Amino acid sequence: MTRPARTQVAIIGSGPAGLLLGRLLTQAGIDNIILERRSKDHVLSRIRAGVLEEGSARILEDAGVGGRMREEGLVHHGIDIAFGGGRHRIDLSGPTGGKGVIIYGQTEVTQDLMDRREADDAPTFYEAEDVAISGFDRHMPETRFIHEGRAHTLLCDFIAGCDGFHGVCRPSVPQGALDIAERVYPAGWLGLLCETPPVSGELIYVRHGRGFALCSMRSPTRSRYYLQCAAGEDATAWSDERFWEELKRRLDPETAAALVTGPSIEKSVAPLRSFVAEPMRFGRLFLAGDAAHIVPPTGAKGLNLAIGDVHYLAEALIEYYQERSQRGLEAYSERALARIWQAERFSWWMTSLLHSFADTGRFAQKLQDAELAYLADSRAAQAALAENYVGLPL
Ligand SMILES: Cc1cc2nc3c(=O)[nH]c(=O)nc-3n(C[C@H](O)[C@H](O)[C@H](O)COP(=O)(O)OP(=O)(O)OC[C@H]3O[C@@H](n4cnc5c(N)ncnc54)[C@H](O)[C@@H]3O)c2cc1C
Repeated sequence: MTRPARTQVAIIGSGPAGLLLGRLLTQAGIDNIILERRSKDHVLSRIRAGVLEEGSARILEDAGVGGRMREEGLVHHGIDIAFGGGRHRIDLSGPTGGKGVIIYGQTEVTQDLMDRREADDAPTFYEAEDVAISGFDRHMPETRFIHEGRAHTLLCDFIAGCDGFHGVCRPSVPQGALDIAERVYPAGWLGLLCETPPVSGELIYVRHGRGFALCSMRSPTRSRYYLQCAAGEDATAWSDERFWEELKRRLDPETAAALVTGPSIEKSVAPLRSFVAEPMRFGRLFLAGDAAHIVPPTGAKGLNLAIGDVHYLAEALIEYYQERSQRGLEAYSERALARIWQAERFSWWMTSLLHSFADTGRFAQKLQDAELAYLADSRAAQAALAENYVGLPL
């Protein structure tokens, strides 16, 4: 790879947000370079999201990376909510004019985007160290980094901060310029991936006195299960046997009896956090995806929000380069945040509905009971859940 000097858009981070933005810009003939702190294999090994909204799937398709997703992804038209020893199906399609979600792993989305980027011959610097950004409040932003032991400077028109929650872009914004809204929940999710058929054809969200559980999947032969655990719990403290025993305790007897267990391929703990940093633009720096916001995974919104942000940002950048118009760039933050706050609300609501937190008193527990009973009986309540779960319009 030759030493970089200038590009139109420098993209920091090669997660789904950075890769998709790169593809949408390349598709429109806009030059871009991605800088990624980790190796390609490391990025591909991170087991994360698995639920795509139909709107996200359409964006991936329009970007020319939807072929395998449409072939291998599983279309789901409902989810189960389990509580009080029984399962209650929520129809997603009926109240939403036939919409559903697609089960397709984030690792697969990332792989498809990486393959496409290679075919496009668009440059990515993996294992870029000490990435630092500056000048985004002036005319020509600059990115410095070290790659294979050599120091590089990259000049650009715009920087896209797609570097996730622990990246370098958000902390580079001057102190006081950001409004932060945050809630850290007193629990985490312990996830286990294994090569066993899923216990059910659709996802099961379980509310139980011992804590939340989720029966999810990645394919007809690969399952993903989650248990609510203590915040900061050590995944290695959980043997596979201990995990399966605890999961069975939280499932209704019929589901527990149908569960096929097996050796885990991966186990990890994810924290539960709601977080929004506003605004998402500072001069020539734009934040997108987890760099600007986090949702607890209960509503399956994180990856979808990253795709939505990038859709808006790519539209704005394309408008700038094709029409020399700043309108889209000026509207980006407000447009993205309106949708983000809807997803924040929904993810908080799903989390509060289904988890038992140590500080949940009797009153809050009784409210949870009442809300779940209402959800099981009310078509209006089910329609509201379905509308949000399949994704609000982009
Ligand atoms: C257990 C779990 C389950 C989830 N389930 C779902 C789900 O079902 N549905 C859903 O929609 N979402 C889900 N999510 C959330 C989803 O995975 C994230 O929202 C998504 O990864 C965000 O993409 P991103 O590209 O913005 O950030 P990331 O995927 O975090 O990518 C950021 C990239 O930037 C790189 N980077 C960081 N710092 C630097 C630096 N200084 N220099 C260069 N590069 C840097 C990182 O290495 C990384 O590759 C889940 C998350 C977890 C943890």
